[in-house]
Amino acid sequence: MMNQKPIPVNTPLLGEREKELLNECIDTGWISSEGPFIAKFESEMSKYVGRNYGIAVSNGSAALDVCIKALEIGVGDEVIMPAFTIISPAQSVVSAGATPVLVESDLSSWNMDVSAIESKITSKTKAVLVVHIYGFPVDMDPVVDLCKKYNLYLIEDAAEMHGQTYKGKKCGSFGTISTFSFYPNKHITTGEGGMIMCDDEKIAERCRKLRNLAFEPGRRFVHNEIGWNYRMTNLQAALGLAQLERIDQHIARKKEIGLRYHSHLSNIKGFEVQPTQLEYAENIFWIYGLLAETQELNEAMQKYLSSNQIGTRPFFWCMHEQPVFQNMGLFKNERYPNAEKLARNGFYVPSGLGITNDEIDTVCEVIVSFKLS
Ligand SMILES: *Cc1c(COP(=O)(O)O)cnc(C)c1O
Repeated sequence: MMNQKPIPVNTPLLGEREKELLNECIDTGWISSEGPFIAKFESEMSKYVGRNYGIAVSNGSAALDVCIKALEIGVGDEVIMPAFTIISPAQSVVSAGATPVLVESDLSSWNMDVSAIESKITSKTKAVLVVHIYGFPVDMDPVVDLCKKYNLYLIEDAAEMHGQTYKGKKCGSFGTISTFSFYPNKHITTGEGGMIMCDDEKIAERCRKLRNLAFEPGRRFVHNEIGWNYRMTNLQAALGLAQLERIDQHIARKKEIGLRYHSHLSNIKGFEVQPTQLEYAENIFWIYGLLAETQELNEAMQKYLSSNQIGTRPFFWCMHEQPVFQNMGLFKNERYPNAEKLARNGFYVPSGLGITNDEIDTVCEVIVSFKLS
């Protein structure tokens, strides 16, 4: 229809300060995980979230691997988590030899339906792993209560929630362990990167050990257990520090992007969108998503946008429908209709921090011009 420049699904926003700090790495020769920016980034980020400890790692999925192992979750244990999520948390649980136990989604928040958690708790349950999805946090009060009542760990995947709050309290501050990602589509980026957060010194120590090949304090190169090389580099931390200086601006801009889309798209026929506000949180619009009435409509709209040079992403695919897990014999005959609806019918439009208002308006015009043939 229109002949405009391609609009990718995500463009990060990088500035002069990033160049300055990256140049400092090059000028000083500190480019590995031994450089000074890592500890600084850990302390600034944990201060921002309100936690005692931050442990920087190579990405958000790595953060989840470390977190599961640090809590000694393994064979015979169950971890309750949403059916609708990115695979990372489920992959960490399965890799540790434990079993993910899935929970249905709530179609008003697109997050896990917390009223469905309690019936999934068994004597094997070790933790509830919440994943805050797209713009809103999970309804945390009932989850915190359940974890206390049943003496379970609370793990919080806050990869999409930098700066988001639940009833005024920062996301990432609820979990026994919480994790963040700094992938380029998150509110602040280090290219690839992640961070683990906790308040317990022993857990923090364990996470530091696991990210670093489980080196022992005694004789170097003698190991008592298996870890990973999940270290973050000084180059990544340089980006992270520069980005963190502007985090509040980034979040404000993300909200502006979301509200601009919302003003054009909240009444599009055949599509639902997330509300801008729930009783416990404002939408921070990690992405701007559209949920079609049918899978056909979703696919046709994404194809139409692509033919107009506009990038889109389908929503996550449900854990119980992942071929890799089905082939392992997991989640046999389980159904989660709300989660399946999100996975089949949802997609999101270009929502990165680098997008301009003109580009947002172009995306909206193209969407409005769509006619199902
Ligand atoms: C991005 C993301 C991850 C994975 O982070 P990576 O840094 O890409 O490994 C995990 N969980 C959620 C909810 C995410 O959005």
